[in-house]
Amino acid sequence: MTIQANAFAVYAIRFASRDASLRKEHFYRGDPCGDESLPIDYFVWVIVGRGTTVLVDAGFTREVAERRGNRTFLQPPAETMRQLGIATDSVKNIILTHLHYDHTGHLPDFPSAQVHLQRTELDYWTGPYARRGENPHLIEPGDLAYVKEQLKNGKVTLVDGDAEIVPGVEVHRVGGHTQGLQVVAVATEGGTLVLASDATHFYANIDEDRPYSIVDHLPSMYDAFDWIKMTASVPEFIIPGHDPLVLERFPAVPGLEGVAVRLA
Ligand SMILES: [Zn+2]
Repeated sequence: MTIQANAFAVYAIRFASRDASLRKEHFYRGDPCGDESLPIDYFVWVIVGRGTTVLVDAGFTREVAERRGNRTFLQPPAETMRQLGIATDSVKNIILTHLHYDHTGHLPDFPSAQVHLQRTELDYWTGPYARRGENPHLIEPGDLAYVKEQLKNGKVTLVDGDAEIVPGVEVHRVGGHTQGLQVVAVATEGGTLVLASDATHFYANIDEDRPYSIVDHLPSMYDAFDWIKMTASVPEFIIPGHDPLVLERFPAVPGLEGVAVRLA
């Protein structure tokens, strides 16, 4: 991707966390130190610049956090955006990396935004396999119904593979964790930053070449690692989907410590 002037600023917004998670839950075929704790954070990401705002993923709501239990909900992402000085009605585009429940919950806060989702992802979750095994637990039916409704309203664009959402913000389907998982490449002043979302939940997944435990297609998870490493301008510009270390590796926004960091 060519980097242009007026590159984007990118923020990670942490809206919830879960302390009681264990290492063995987060690696394909477990982990030798399985019973050690490995807390997990939940994020959305905001890309701001050139007169527009792109939101990447939509988190889950406080109600979902309470119903599912064990999760500490901080505040809705739209509230944090207001504190960052970003008007929520400046969000013209939302990229949904995939349809798991922790990425879809706050879409109704941005009713005028165009949503970009891989066609294979929607097909999977509206098809026969969505009912099998643990799959029903991984999505929120109400969120999926909202996506289908917005599709009818012309507010969802179904992507096949690669697409430019706005100049300097591109999506790429990697699959692996889910059928249509997509990652986001952003042109920033320091180079191309990759919002990897759940292509790598933690730094350890990609750094140690050990995929996450929830697998749709294992070879695609390895291919995703390769694509992300090839695309990010520097290793620091690979942003995992759920790693609490993101808050340590990037500067907090003053006044929003523990809630928002600036990635670029
Ligand atoms: Zn997730």
